[in-house]
Amino acid sequence: MLDTPHPTPAEPTLDCRALAQKLSGLHFIGGRYVPGLSGQNFDVVNPATGEVIGKAAEGDAQDVNMAVLDAARAQKEWASIPARKRGALVAQCAAVLKAHQEELARLIALETGKALRTESRVEAGVVADIFEFFGGLGSELKGESVPFDPKVLSVTVREPLGVVGAIIPWNVPMLLMALKVAPALVAGNTVVVKSAEEAPLTVLRICELMNRVLPPGCFNILSGFGPECGAPLVEHRLVRKVTFTGSVETGKIVAKAAAEKLVPVTLELGGKSPMIVFADCDFDKTVAGALTSMRFTRQGQSCTAASRIYVERPIFDRFVARMQQAVDAMVMGDPLDEKTDIGTIISDGQFEKVQAFIAEGKATKGATAIECSALPDDPALKKGLFLRPVIFTGLDASSRLVREEIFGPVTVIQPFDDAEEVLAAANDSEYGLAASLWTNNLRVGLDLAHRLEAGLVQINQNLVVQANLSYGGVKSSGLGKEASLEAMLEHFTHKKTIMVNMA
Ligand code: ADP
Repeated sequence: MLDTPHPTPAEPTLDCRALAQKLSGLHFIGGRYVPGLSGQNFDVVNPATGEVIGKAAEGDAQDVNMAVLDAARAQKEWASIPARKRGALVAQCAAVLKAHQEELARLIALETGKALRTESRVEAGVVADIFEFFGGLGSELKGESVPFDPKVLSVTVREPLGVVGAIIPWNVPMLLMALKVAPALVAGNTVVVKSAEEAPLTVLRICELMNRVLPPGCFNILSGFGPECGAPLVEHRLVRKVTFTGSVETGKIVAKAAAEKLVPVTLELGGKSPMIVFADCDFDKTVAGALTSMRFTRQGQSCTAASRIYVERPIFDRFVARMQQAVDAMVMGDPLDEKTDIGTIISDGQFEKVQAFIAEGKATKGATAIECSALPDDPALKKGLFLRPVIFTGLDASSRLVREEIFGPVTVIQPFDDAEEVLAAANDSEYGLAASLWTNNLRVGLDLAHRLEAGLVQINQNLVVQANLSYGGVKSSGLGKEASLEAMLEHFTHKKTIMVNMA
């Protein structure tokens, strides 16, 4: 136990380096900061400079047990608070997070390399919005009356599941955590989160800030590695629901472990999202849409990244040229600099993985690699994981770059000649998370929207997580939905039937 339970200030602090130091080596369990029981920590690295900015506690099964027991103790009392009041407390957390938006944005930029203006500030804003949205849904936890027999009152009630174990990745850690924690809490569950190894600090700070509002034990967070800390969380006997965002491989491991205990699991896994551009589209709007769809500002580190762009042949060359021009105009640099559009790749391992894909693409016969933008020339960033975005042409469906999730700033543009051909190509994928269509022909657009195998299809726009729009994929992209009222009801409650015989 720490002598000072909150070594960090309650008010926003913009010195992200100092904050990272203060958050070092700690979990947040039972309403207070605690060091890891093993005493082992691992480095948290700023990918823009290679500097170690802090430490994260290396959680293991003992820490998991302590957190889950605290969460289980807190859950009964939390569930006994009227649902609207629970929602009001979660909405109050949203207000605190909103007041800390800039602080959270700077800290996440420091630990993930995501540019402050284009990515980190946006994410911090959406996080507060998600908590605010779910905070208003307490009174929607309604049941039904069932017309079973006039002399028997039959009703259903929504009950919480218990302790929720949530495992999150590093690419949008604050937002993806919010999508799990907000509905779980409002529904009357308590939560233990396992943060991602690469981005443990900002989510820890969010947990602390929310614990200034919530009763202790409702929201706990641990840092640590997947097999040592994530696996025991999934396997813990008191964890009654698992919600996971990450890779397909790990998602399968998590789903198997949850199946052993017969607890429900929600999985948000990878994607290889197609963007389909017809010649009749609004050209400029579509080029701008391709930049956002591909998440170039996040170095393509997104499961919805438009990493397969299909363009109708008459506008193919013009589209590729304009894409190149547009990505060239993006500024790569220090994530904390307001001028920066594109920050860094998250880690050495990811950097090497993406480079291997690029090398394979370049070595493919007939392929052209268009490298865009320019590496920063600031000597302070010379060890940074900056990677020039690459647009490939001349690759087809047999390429690994078209089939596999790269999770980097690499997109493949391919020409097509008719709607049926492009639909078949788009659906020829293991994944089914998101897709977008760009056309002014609503008949064609709607027809394809119905036939695309994806959880989210958008025509002439590219918005991703929006409060109350169900988000989640089909095929290997996952199981279940997030972000909506329906997601809260279906994935964080169960329906109990109560019957009263009045005869
Ligand atoms: P990524 O490629 O994003 O690192 P992972 O699926 O490996 O994808 O990681 C996503 C999250 O899953 C991380 O928090 C990671 O620590 C966690 N994780 C990895 N392995 C396991 C496991 N065996 N059980 C539970 N969680 C795990």
